[in-house]
Amino acid sequence: MSKDTKKTYNVVPGIKMGLVSPDHLVKIATVAKKYNIPILKITSAQRLAFLGMDPDDANDVWQELGEPDGLTKPVGIHYVQACPGAGLCKYGRQDSLRLGEMIQETLMGMNLPGKTKVGISGCPMNCTESYVRDLGIYGKKKGWTLIFGGNGGGNPRIGDVIAENLTTAEVLALAKRCLTYYAAHARKKERTARFMERTNLDEFIEKTKD
Ligand code: SF4
Repeated sequence: MSKDTKKTYNVVPGIKMGLVSPDHLVKIATVAKKYNIPILKITSAQRLAFLGMDPDDANDVWQELGEPDGLTKPVGIHYVQACPGAGLCKYGRQDSLRLGEMIQETLMGMNLPGKTKVGISGCPMNCTESYVRDLGIYGKKKGWTLIFGGNGGGNPRIGDVIAENLTTAEVLALAKRCLTYYAAHARKKERTARFMERTNLDEFIEKTKD
C-alpha cells in the first residue's frame, strides 16, 4: 500500500447489512472514479470503505453520493450486520435481514456509552459471529436467542445468553432494554464486554426482563 492510501479511511454510508443495489454501486463507482479513490475495500462489517481519499474531497464525495451526513460518526450502534437468513439461506430459521432492518429503524439513534456492534444470524451457524458482538442475536426454529456483551478484537469475550426462544417483537424489546440498562450503568466509553465482566449476570437478566 502506498503512503497516499494511508491518508484517510472513510466508510461509504448508506450500505446497511451489506445490501447494495445496482444503482447504488454505479453511483459509488462513478464517484470513486471522479475523485480517484485509490482503493475500495469491502470491510468486515459488511460495508464499503474508501481508502486513501484526499481529505479535502471528503465533503464533496459524500454530497455526490447523496449522503451529506457521511462524515458524521455514529455515537451508539456502530453498525448492524445481518446474514441472509430464512428465505434466502437454506439453513435459515429466522428472518435476520428483517430483524436487522427493525433494529436499524428503532435502536440506531440510542445514545450509548461505547461503540456497539450488532450481529444477527438466521440460524445457530452464526455466520455474523453473534457471540462476539456487543449485541448478538441468532435464530432457531423456536425463536431468537439474544446474547449481550460479546467482543472480538484483542481482548475477546464470548457474550452472555440473556434469553432464548423469543418472538421478533420480544427480541426487539429485550434488545432495547439491554442497551438502556447498559447506557444507564456503564462508564463512559466502556464496551459491553468489559461492562458485563463486572456486572452480575443474574441481576442483569432480572433487571432487563419486561
Ligand atoms: S447464519 Fe445460518 S442462516 Fe445465516 S447465512 Fe449462516 S447458515 Fe445461513
